[in-house]
Amino acid sequence: MKVLAPEMYEVVIGLEVHAELLTQSKMFCGCANQPNATPNSNVCPVCLGLPGALPVINQRAVELTALTGLALNCSISEFTRFDRKNYFYPDLMKGYQISQYQHPIAHDGWIEIEYDGRIQRIGIRRVHLEEDTAKLFHRVDPTTGRPYSLVDVNRGGVPLIEIVSEPDIHSAEQARLYLQALRTIVQYLGVSTGNMEEGSFRCDANVSVRPVGSTELGTKVEVKNMNSFRAVFRALEYEAERQIKAIANGEPLTQETRGWDESRGITVGQRSKESAHDYRYFPEPDLPPLSLAPSWVASIRQQMPELPAARRQRFETQYGLSPYDAEVLTTTRATADYYEATVKLFDRPKQVANWLTGELFRLLNASNLEIGQSKVSPAGVADLLQLIEKGVISGRAAKDVFEEMFRTGESANRIIEAKGLTQISDAAALDRLVDEAIAANPKSVADYKSGKAQAIGFLVGQVMKASRGKANPGVVNDLLRAKLDQTG
Ligand SMILES: [Zn+2]
Repeated sequence: MKVLAPEMYEVVIGLEVHAELLTQSKMFCGCANQPNATPNSNVCPVCLGLPGALPVINQRAVELTALTGLALNCSISEFTRFDRKNYFYPDLMKGYQISQYQHPIAHDGWIEIEYDGRIQRIGIRRVHLEEDTAKLFHRVDPTTGRPYSLVDVNRGGVPLIEIVSEPDIHSAEQARLYLQALRTIVQYLGVSTGNMEEGSFRCDANVSVRPVGSTELGTKVEVKNMNSFRAVFRALEYEAERQIKAIANGEPLTQETRGWDESRGITVGQRSKESAHDYRYFPEPDLPPLSLAPSWVASIRQQMPELPAARRQRFETQYGLSPYDAEVLTTTRATADYYEATVKLFDRPKQVANWLTGELFRLLNASNLEIGQSKVSPAGVADLLQLIEKGVISGRAAKDVFEEMFRTGESANRIIEAKGLTQISDAAALDRLVDEAIAANPKSVADYKSGKAQAIGFLVGQVMKASRGKANPGVVNDLLRAKLDQTG
């Protein structure tokens, strides 16, 4: 390849995402789909790969795969079947993986991301169904210093979908946006937890570079072992730069698999990449092919919940939210549900949005919790907002009350009572404090009387301070004006 300046190359990325499906049982046996249970407690002859054990297809897994395909604007295959992918590795109990090769359940779809202020489509080549592998734990014997490995087969045979994108991605940032959009969709569908850190949502990338304008693909490198969105971003940035530098230095690139080394911030060559024919795919003889009738596909389509993009749109029109608020409040289905449940109880959509994106998100972030783990329910938030509206507490005091609610799960009323935070709105009760503020601040009083209307703000502040924040600022303001205007 002719050597060009670095900016004359473009990176071409295709992503393969694996998501564990949220079914009750495993893909081909009746074992519970609970990968994190006591090691090897959910195993049977089928998922242990014992000779003679026969697999049975999990119907729900097929439904969830089709549902995902439809949400990704794919066509659903009328004919689909499973294939054996043969390779040897200790996490593969049977010596082969049941996967899908020629006839995936769904194919030829797309999703949209917003990149650089524009809506952009990323093609989805296919969505297929397969089984997960067992989990290996690599240890070192403390007495002999010898390494050994443990196998937990709970994850072996768990249903897994693989979502393969077209090579339509041209930067690490686009890859991150695509992954986020995809994860939000599988979470909305309820087909997967989408949890990357726990490994139930995993991503491999095919990366190559080519001169801008070229339509041919360069030498493809597969990058693995990226365990977070941040890792994907960093690994892809690194790998693109590495390939461009290699070309610039006249070094040949090899088709290989490289692993992301998080601590060193580099990709490391692992093995030369297999081709499909190395796996000796052939139709799985122990399972029947499936024909997915259009009427069946229609019934799956009816299970489709409102998807993130549609919900975001609706939040803008129905609740009058800004695009930003609509975006952050629909990032997860749980957040959007929480918001709508709160609005149902306290019908001030913008106030609810402000409170959730401000106070609740701040506390969730600080304690590293998901919204589902919040001790404050939508009813709790609605109660508190009602108390502010009725003037029982000030907005400022409400923030402290909310922190306490978040920490203890106590109701707003109880905390307000226990802490004596009830706002003082009774003019008679505030009278003395107002008089004291007037007496103690002759300069502000004179300023006000000479026409500097803003001087009253300082006096209100003094009363608020004296009441330890409990005075109702509106009532204080009225009282002050009445007294100052009268004595003028
Ligand atoms: Zn089993």
